[in-house]
Amino acid sequence: MDERVRFIRKLTPALRIPPGRTVELGRDFDPASTDGSVSRSDASGLLDQGVELLTEYQDRLYAQASSGVLVVLQGPDASGKDSTIKHVMRGVNPQGVDVRSFGEPSAEELSHDYLWRCHRVVPQRGRIGVFNRSYYEEVLVVRIHPELLVPERLPELPKDESIWARRYREINDWERYLVENGIRVVKVFLNLSRREQAKRFLKRIDDPRKHWKFSAADLRDRRRWDDYQRVYSDMLSHTSTEWAPWHVVPADHKWFARLATAAVLAQTLVEIDPRYPEVEPATRKQMAKARSELVAEVGRSKAAAKG
Ligand code: AMP
Ligand code: MG
Repeated sequence: MDERVRFIRKLTPALRIPPGRTVELGRDFDPASTDGSVSRSDASGLLDQGVELLTEYQDRLYAQASSGVLVVLQGPDASGKDSTIKHVMRGVNPQGVDVRSFGEPSAEELSHDYLWRCHRVVPQRGRIGVFNRSYYEEVLVVRIHPELLVPERLPELPKDESIWARRYREINDWERYLVENGIRVVKVFLNLSRREQAKRFLKRIDDPRKHWKFSAADLRDRRRWDDYQRVYSDMLSHTSTEWAPWHVVPADHKWFARLATAAVLAQTLVEIDPRYPEVEPATRKQMAKARSELVAEVGRSKAAAKG
């Protein structure tokens, strides 16, 4: 077996949440973990290998054009969503990838059902789509700030907590629909510690070139840290399914988060195992004809140049 694939097979199962398992972020996952077997000094070589593998598989995915891959990235502010995308996707052909970020919904988006803005940009067959935040915000930030439900204009404003269970069901059903129709859904949660978030915020505040990355809303959400941990845990417990499991990637060490995310995505591509299309005998004949025509032409022009 390809040595690179062996590494991925070893790393990814431990990150996956088994469907149906109830998890609690603070208790069950260590944001500073780096898997016992990888050291920081090996990491960049391994990431290079992972990126190379992604590049090869993405080329095949694009050529085959029957499956698409949707990567959903969630995580608190400063958990490294942007930089993970930058490093993991650096080798793939830009023609085959779409990255989308989801912030506060616009007036137009609010006038549709909440999955609409995401569904309209689900990747085509043959392509990889990356969602930087996603429809999962609808059970995260919206749950923490339920006043955000008002402009969504649901037929009835929920009076109790049942709306979140309902949304989990809707999301699970929708992801199942995608998977059954050839769009694989790869979900990664970047698990950051409270301490590391403070460090990264301070860096953003202290470096003028990073100011643009920091907003007052970031502190507003940080003050609700424990509430967020609770809704993250609830989301992970209810939306890790057979068809679209969650992966919890420890995010305190960026080098490990990148490596693990690359491995999770590569594992999916290896599973899809896309193949270059088989060439029909008729096409092969045409190719042979085109070849001899070109070879003859090159030969003639060489001869002419000499003579
Ligand atoms: P950033 O990722 O730093 O650009 O911030 C985007 C902001 O948009 C975050 O504070 C998200 O919580 C917020 N956001 C994303 N999706 C939604 C949504 N559906 N409703 C309300 N706020 C959202
Ligand atoms: Mg932010």
